Amino acid sequence: MPALDCEVVKICTVDGRFSVETSLTDIEAANKCLERTDYTPRDAEFARSLANKVKQDGVRSINQKVWLHIMALKEYTPAQTVHVGDFQGLIKLFQTALHYDQTQGRQGRKARSPKITLETPSGYVVALKTASELSRNAGMIYVTSGEGTYLGKIDRSGDLHKTSQDLPQEAMDLLAEFSRSPQEVAEQYGAKTGKCCFCARHLQDEKGDAGSQRGSSVEQGYGLVCARRYGLYHTNLTGAEKIAVANRQ
Ligand SMILES: [Zn+2]
Repeated sequence: MPALDCEVVKICTVDGRFSVETSLTDIEAANKCLERTDYTPRDAEFARSLANKVKQDGVRSINQKVWLHIMALKEYTPAQTVHVGDFQGLIKLFQTALHYDQTQGRQGRKARSPKITLETPSGYVVALKTASELSRNAGMIYVTSGEGTYLGKIDRSGDLHKTSQDLPQEAMDLLAEFSRSPQEVAEQYGAKTGKCCFCARHLQDEKGDAGSQRGSSVEQGYGLVCARRYGLYHTNLTGAEKIAVANRQ
């Protein structure tokens, strides 16, 4: 007979739709939810709020108990680390934007977190955004589809962890190319879609500084404001800014 503390019990939700076999106590399950680092961003939020509630008030319903144990024991297909190139360039690009926002961007206004949208030649849309500064994944970049489905993340050392088969090879190739030469890929995106890949504005609407030529953003493929934010070249940068960009590359 197994010892009581490692007995496996099956519990299921009131409607019988969800069940889990668990040998954990509720507190063990809650602790596990709080310790795990392999959740997808959406699951992480759910598991953590559930665990915190249970630790604070105890288990209040059978459904809550079932979901607590489901989240503690949930298994993911192991994330696959893919080497399709070095993504250091992407990490640097986002760091530049975050630094810009903190030091000289949008004074007094709420900072938007940097987000970049790209499109492969066959029309697959892929989006990049930074993990929240408060999350365990701070400093990493989330990769999502155009509709916001989570597809993987790029860690601080520039490795891509793909959690889904849905991320096509051509999208990974595009990300690798973008990491190597952001300016060229941003230009191509602008030429193809008529929009800035950094802020999604139509390029004819992008305003630069007073006195800048209208239409220059259309030519460049992204706007002057975004060029400054991400540390990229733009024809309307000042001489000193152009030198700074050249030195950075
Ligand atoms: Zn822009």
